[in-house]
Amino acid sequence: MGYFCSVCKSDITEKEFKYSMEKYGQALCREHQNSPGPKYDNGNSNKTPQIPGLR
Ligand SMILES: [Zn+2]
Repeated sequence: MGYFCSVCKSDITEKEFKYSMEKYGQALCREHQNSPGPKYDNGNSNKTPQIPGLR
């Protein structure tokens, strides 16, 4: 049994897995720990974020 990033499916170590689960709540490789998921662009906060399921 191995661990892998939930975004890119790359192999990660158990240490990276536990760290990521504690900090982000999901398994992420080192690359995606810095930017978890492509869904939110934190660098551009001028636009009002759309919340799905609100209407
Ligand atoms: Zn990844």
